[in-house]
Amino acid sequence: MTTNTLTPLRLKKNEERRLRAGHQWVYSNEVDTEKTPLSAFQPGQPVEVRDNRDAVIGTGYVNPHTLICARLVSRDPAHPFSASLLVHRLKVALALREMLYDKPYYRLVYGDSDGLPGLVVDRYDTVLVVQITTAGMEVMKDEVLAALDKVIKPTAVLLRNDSPVRDMEGLSSYATTASGTVPERVALMENGVRFEAPLLTGQKTGWFYDQRDNRARIARYARGKRVLDVFSYLGGFGIQTAAAGAESVLCVDSSVTALEGVRANAALNKLQDTVATLQGDAFEALKQLREQREHFDIVIVDPPAFIKRKKDMKEGVQAYRRINQMAMQVLAKDGILMSCSCSFHMTRENLLEQMLGAARHLDRSLQILEQGHQGPDHPVHPAITETDYLKAFIGRVLPA
Ligand code: SAH
Repeated sequence: MTTNTLTPLRLKKNEERRLRAGHQWVYSNEVDTEKTPLSAFQPGQPVEVRDNRDAVIGTGYVNPHTLICARLVSRDPAHPFSASLLVHRLKVALALREMLYDKPYYRLVYGDSDGLPGLVVDRYDTVLVVQITTAGMEVMKDEVLAALDKVIKPTAVLLRNDSPVRDMEGLSSYATTASGTVPERVALMENGVRFEAPLLTGQKTGWFYDQRDNRARIARYARGKRVLDVFSYLGGFGIQTAAAGAESVLCVDSSVTALEGVRANAALNKLQDTVATLQGDAFEALKQLREQREHFDIVIVDPPAFIKRKKDMKEGVQAYRRINQMAMQVLAKDGILMSCSCSFHMTRENLLEQMLGAARHLDRSLQILEQGHQGPDHPVHPAITETDYLKAFIGRVLPA
C-alpha cells in the first residue's frame, strides 16, 4: 500500500524536530499554512505529515479546529493509518496485557501510548468499553470496531463517547451499544478480589484499572487495621484492604450508586461485615469524623482530578492540601496515609509538598514509604508527558 493518496500536511521549517524526537502531536502554529492551509481539511481527515523539505514524517489525521491540529499514527510509509494498522496495533497492545495479567481484565488500549491516539479500550473479559476522543479516530469508528471484533471477538461493545474532551474536537457526546447486549454490570477480578462494575451508569469506562498496583501496595499494610477509603467509588481500594485482613473498612463517596456498588462488592467477597459506607462530601465527612474523634490506622485519599485545566491550578492545589490535612487529622498515631492524584497538572513534587505542608502544619513528621504510579496497562509515552498522570504516595505520619 502506498501513501500517495493521502493529502500532505506541511510543517514550517524546523517544526519537525519535536516529532522526529518522538512526539506525535502537531500544533496548529507549526503548520506551513501557505502551502497547506488548515481550512482545506475536514475534521478527522487522514494526512501525510511532511517537513518543509517535503520529507515524509509519517501518517495520521487532522482536526483543523483544535490546537493539536494533527496526530501522528504511523511513521512507517509502508503502513499508514488504516484498518490493517489498527489490527496490528491492537495485537501489539494485547500482547503486553497478556504478558502482564493472567485474567482478561485491563485497559487494552491507552491512546497515544499504544500508537492509537484518541482511542481507549477497557476490557472486562468478553465485554469491551470503547472511548473515542478525537475526530480522526471517530472517522475510523467502524474500522476500530471491526478490528476489535477480529482481535478480541467480544460478545458486547459499549461506546462511552461521552467524555467532555470530545467537545473540543467538535464531536457529539453519546453512549451507545455498538454490538451485542451490554450487561448492566460486568464482573472483574483484580489482585484476586472480585468486583462488579456498572458500565452504562458508572464513572468513565466503569472501573479505574490504573490503580490496580497501588491497591495491591496498600493492601500489604492492612492486616488487622482500621481503614478509611475516601473517594472510594466502588471500593477498589477499601475492599482489597478488607480482603487482605483489615479489621474494619469505611468507604466514603458522594455518590449513592457508587456506595451501593461498594456494598454489593463487599458481599461478593463475603466481606459485608467488615466494610461499611458513608455517603457525603469527602471534606464534610472528614470533618465529621474528626469531630467524633474517630481514628483510622490507614487513610486512602483518591480524589477526582482537582486540577482539570491549568487555570484550576491554584484552587486545585489548595484542595489537595486541604484533603491531605484533613486525612491526617483522622489518622491514628503512626498511621499510614495513601495520597493519590490523577491530575496531570499536579506534579509528583507538588503533591509531596502538600503532604509535607499538611504534616508540618499539624506538627507531625512524614515518612515516604512507597511511590506509585499508573499500572503498566496505561503505558507512558516518554515524549508525551500528558500520558504520565497518576501519582500515589504511601506515607507514615509520625509525631514531630
Ligand atoms: N478510589 C476509586 C476511584 C475514585 S474516583 C477507585 O479506586 O476506583 C473519584 C470518586 O470520588 C467518585 O466515585 C466520585 O463519586 C467521588 N467524588 C467526587 N467528588 C466527591 C466529593 N466532593 N466528596 C466525596 N466523593 C466525591
